[in-house]
Amino acid sequence: MNPCNLNQLGVDRESRWAVGHFNIHNQEFTRAVVRAAEQERSPVILAVGMMSIKYMGLAPLISSCRLIAQETEVPVAVHLDHARDLEVVRRALDLGINSVMFDGSSLSFEENVAKTTEVVRMAHDCGATAEGEIGIVPHGTARVSTEDMTDPSRAVEFAGKTGVDFLAVSLGSVHGMKTAGTSLNQDLLKKLHEQIQVPLVLHGASGVVDDHLKAAVANGIRKINVNTGLKVVLKSFLRTRLVDEPDSDLLADLDQGMGAVCTAVVSKMRLFGSSNKA
Ligand SMILES: [Zn+2]
Repeated sequence: MNPCNLNQLGVDRESRWAVGHFNIHNQEFTRAVVRAAEQERSPVILAVGMMSIKYMGLAPLISSCRLIAQETEVPVAVHLDHARDLEVVRRALDLGINSVMFDGSSLSFEENVAKTTEVVRMAHDCGATAEGEIGIVPHGTARVSTEDMTDPSRAVEFAGKTGVDFLAVSLGSVHGMKTAGTSLNQDLLKKLHEQIQVPLVLHGASGVVDDHLKAAVANGIRKINVNTGLKVVLKSFLRTRLVDEPDSDLLADLDQGMGAVCTAVVSKMRLFGSSNKA
């Protein structure tokens, strides 16, 4: 099936489940995530981030995602994660990406509105969807300050002015967490879901405890971004495997590593409620 945009995955503001966004870095990750989606009959988002682009290249990543999506029957969207440069957005759209996220969270409100509006226009012209961010989901710091969390009135204004299809909000999660110990401000989430007419997105989910992820879905989160957690799974699998089976073939190691990543993705899909929604 040809890959589709986020609005075509079957999830919307009123759904009672969330679609998983899984960052992929090479074909092994891509195949593991798609295999999980097939097993669960779940729609899925393959996300390409800036670090992975530096590692693998934008065109090879997008084209391999598109090819692997075409081989499967479950709905797959290929999505650009955390673009801060309009030139990268342009190149990704020209290469056939289905959805783009512009991260203007470090800019002033006015600049974030202006650049995100431009990205929405560029995306919609290509039949792609666009995600924006309001509030700050930090990287690697222990706690999110109250000022970093999303302000509801600003978020309403931002969504209205930019026309984003999906909106990332800051509720207490942090990017890059290797273990899950964070909780979310669920009261703030309920307010945001009530007041904002587009589906809400949670970044930094690898650090959030399962109970809070489940509650976030009940309270209005419709797209959940998972990145670091899957890297941790693969690395820890390979660490053990290379010690236990030093003479095994590398391809067998990687194949089993993909199996471990696939199992982790399946358990996230069940937690997000996206199983059997394809
Ligand atoms: Zn993020």
